[in-house]
Amino acid sequence: GKVLVTGANGYIGVWLCKTLLERGFSVRATVRSESKATHLRKMFASFGDKFEIAIVEDMLKEGAYDEAVKGVDAIVHCASPFHFAANDPSELVNPAVQGTNTVLTSALKHAPTLKRFIVTSSVAALITPSAELHTVSEADWNEGAIAEIQEKGVEASPLGKYCASKTLGERTAWDFWGKHKGELGWDLVALNPPYVFGPVLHEVEKPEKLNESMRWWYDAVVGGTIDNAMLAVLGVAWVDVRDMVEAYVLALTTPEVSGERVVISAGPFKLQDFVSIAHRLHPQLHAGNTEYDPAKAVHYTTFVMDKQQKLLPLKYRTIEEMTRDTLEDFRARGWF
Ligand code: NDP
Repeated sequence: GKVLVTGANGYIGVWLCKTLLERGFSVRATVRSESKATHLRKMFASFGDKFEIAIVEDMLKEGAYDEAVKGVDAIVHCASPFHFAANDPSELVNPAVQGTNTVLTSALKHAPTLKRFIVTSSVAALITPSAELHTVSEADWNEGAIAEIQEKGVEASPLGKYCASKTLGERTAWDFWGKHKGELGWDLVALNPPYVFGPVLHEVEKPEKLNESMRWWYDAVVGGTIDNAMLAVLGVAWVDVRDMVEAYVLALTTPEVSGERVVISAGPFKLQDFVSIAHRLHPQLHAGNTEYDPAKAVHYTTFVMDKQQKLLPLKYRTIEEMTRDTLEDFRARGWF
């Protein structure tokens, strides 16, 4: 089948295109400009006409994806801003909500062959942050972040703004589906990963230009710019990018996941977990917080993983494997 991937030049997007092509899918990748297509065209040249690019300059424009959705069997929507530098929450919320709406509307009108639409959400759409131990499942919605941006606007926390964009973006998809499902030949699935880490395939000229999750990882592990005390405190949950794209492949090929949102998480971490392994593998990298005892680390959020294990069974890579492979990649780039 043919899969449309939006945000195809992003961190997750390139891994997804690569994995789909290797598994025999055809891929139509959307990017915002021809210059963002060059790296992809080169990387996937060997797949010939199984790989195509569709330029969608502005996903906020109605009808923007009308051409791109034609003839595809599935859509994976990845395009959405992920950064903590927004001033007005609308800088994140508008693309998340309006972008999702635009691609869904084009799919409704112009994709008669479509079977499944997968929206890339996040655990950010589930968890309302808490300083108490709590268990989170797919039944939860991050109402806290929505309230935060409504009450505080530009004064809302950077995390709150991003979380609100993911919550409202995913909700847009379910609302749309709820309203139109009677007239659709396709169904909806949402995948909700926590931090996605692992080797990088997309075009990055220097570490400062890494995508948000990997820049944070680089800062902690290689850059050494995160305070030692914080290395033992900061962390939620993570998944290897290669396992995340495996989850998409399963979600594309598993009928039973229809209409579900599914958490895709390998487990909890503190940044120091990566730093410790990295220092052991490459002693020239800093040791970080030598007082840290992983057995005493408090992980506030626990995810209920039953649905993922039942519907999208994955064998997750370990922190050790991810750290080793990511550092190999960074080393090949001359980043340390
Ligand atoms: P990247 O920043 O690497 O990729 C984001 C992609 O979205 C890029 O292709 C980018 O295009 C596109 N995009 C951003 N804003 C717009 C916009 N306004 N209009 C059109 N395209 C836009 O991040 P990731 O690959 O990590 O993120 C992909 C998805 O995964 C996002 O939805 C993100 O929220 C989600 N996610 C990521 C996690 C992570 O830890 N990485 C965790 C949980 C969810 P361009 O290059 O042109 O800006």
